[in-house]
Amino acid sequence: LSDRLGGVFDRLTKQGALTEDDVTAAMREVRTALLEADVSLPVARSFVKSVTGKATGASVTKSVTPGQQVVKIVHDELIKVLQGEDAPEALRIDNPPAPILMVGLQGSGKTTTTAKLAKRLKDREKKRVLMASLDTNRPAAMEQLAILGTQIGVDTLPIVKGESAVQIAKRAKQQASLGGYDVYMLDTAGRLHIDQVLMDEVQAVRDVANPRETLLVVDGLTGQDAVNVATEFDEKVGVSGVVLTRMDGDGRGGAALSMRAVTGKPIRFVGLGEKMDALEGFDAQRIAGRILGMGDIVSLVEKAQEVLEVEQAERMMKRFQKGLFNMNDLRNQLEQMQKMGGMGSIMQMMPGMAKMAKQAEEAGMDDSAVRRQIALINSMTKKERANPALLQASRKKRIAAGAGLDVSELNRLLKMQRQMGDTMKKLGKMGKGGMLKQAMR
Ligand code: GDP
Ligand code: MG
Repeated sequence: LSDRLGGVFDRLTKQGALTEDDVTAAMREVRTALLEADVSLPVARSFVKSVTGKATGASVTKSVTPGQQVVKIVHDELIKVLQGEDAPEALRIDNPPAPILMVGLQGSGKTTTTAKLAKRLKDREKKRVLMASLDTNRPAAMEQLAILGTQIGVDTLPIVKGESAVQIAKRAKQQASLGGYDVYMLDTAGRLHIDQVLMDEVQAVRDVANPRETLLVVDGLTGQDAVNVATEFDEKVGVSGVVLTRMDGDGRGGAALSMRAVTGKPIRFVGLGEKMDALEGFDAQRIAGRILGMGDIVSLVEKAQEVLEVEQAERMMKRFQKGLFNMNDLRNQLEQMQKMGGMGSIMQMMPGMAKMAKQAEEAGMDDSAVRRQIALINSMTKKERANPALLQASRKKRIAAGAGLDVSELNRLLKMQRQMGDTMKKLGKMGKGGMLKQAMR
C-alpha cells in the first residue's frame, strides 16, 4: 500500500490541509488494500466512506507527505473499529461452573482452541476446567480432545459411546457441578458448511447448557466467507465473542475487520500456531498494521508529530528571548508538567532549567500543587493572564476566591512567574549565541 500511495502523492509536494482530491485518490488505494487483505466488499466500502469524511481537511504534518498522513488516519480508524469498546479478554466465568460453548465450522480450529483456552484459564487464572467433546460424528475428534487434555493437564469428560450431543452436554454440566469445576467447555461438532442439522444441534446444546460465553472459532484465512459464517452463527445461536485462528499464516487478517464491522462482536483471541500456548489476546494495533502492511509509515507519521511539538517549543523560546513570560506561558509549562508526570519538556531542554525545575519540585510542586496553580490561572481574566502586573489586592482576592484558595497561594504563584520570567529572559539572551539552539536538538 505504501508504495502505491507514494505513487499517487509523488506529484503532490504541497503542505497544508488534505484536499478532497488527495483523499479520494488515496482512498481508492486503501480500498484495494483492504480487499487484498480479504476484507469483505461491503465492509471495505463503508470503512472507506467513514474515513474519507474524517481525512478531508485534516492537516498534514510538515515533513510527511499527504499520502503518509492519510495512511496514519486510516490506521488509527482501523484500530478504533477493531478495538471496539469492550475489554477483549474478559471472559465471563464467574458463578462456577461457568459453561463456555465453542462453535464454528469443521476444521476452523475449535478443538485446538478449546484446549488452548483451557490451558490459559488453568495457568493464568488458576481455574479448574473440564472439557467435553460433543463431536458424536467423529470418534477421532473425541479422542483428539482427550489427548490434548492429558497433554496440558486438564480433565476431559469420559467418553460414553452412543450418546447424543445434548446428552453429553447434560453430563458435562452435572460432572462440572459435582466435581467442583470453575469452568466447563463444550467443544461442538462442526460441518464443512452451515446447514440446518448443525444449527439445530448447536441450538439444542445451547439451551441445555445456557452458556456464559459462546465463542465462535473462525479460520482467519477464510476471508470473505468468514462474515457469512459469523452472521449465521450469531443469528441462530448467539455469539458473545470471536476467536480467529491461523493468524500465524501469511493471510492479511482482513477477516478480523469484517468480523468486527458486521457482527459487532469483540474478537477475544487469536490463534498463532498448532502448539498449546499459541493463543494470544487480541491486539488491534498489530492486526491493523498487518491489514495495511506498513508499520513503518505509521511510525514515521508519529515521529512527524513529535517534530511538531518541538516546533511549538521553538516558538515559545522565541517569546522567552524577548522577555515574554506571562501566565499563559506558565500555565502551558504547568500543563506539560502534568502531562509528562515531571518537569516541562522545554525546561528539560534548556540548560540551567533542569536545576530550577528541581528547586520547584523541592518547594512542594507535587501534582496537587500544580493543579491548584492551574486553577488559579484559570480564574484570571484573559487580560490578567497576559499581563500579571495588573493584579492588585482586589483582583487577587477575586481570583483566589474563584479558585477556592488563599491569596497567599496566589502570591506564591506570582513570585514563581516573575522568577521564571527572569530566568527565561537570561537564558534567552544566551540562546541568541546558539547555545539554546543546541540544547533543543
Ligand atoms: P475443528 O475441526 O474446528 O475442531 O479444528 P481442529 O481444532 O481439529 O483444527 C484443525 C487443524 O488446524 C489442526 O491441524 C490444528 O492443529 C490446526 N490449527 C488450529 N488452530 C491453528 C492455528 O492457530 N494456527 C495453525 N497454524 N494451525 C491451527
Ligand atoms: Mg474438532
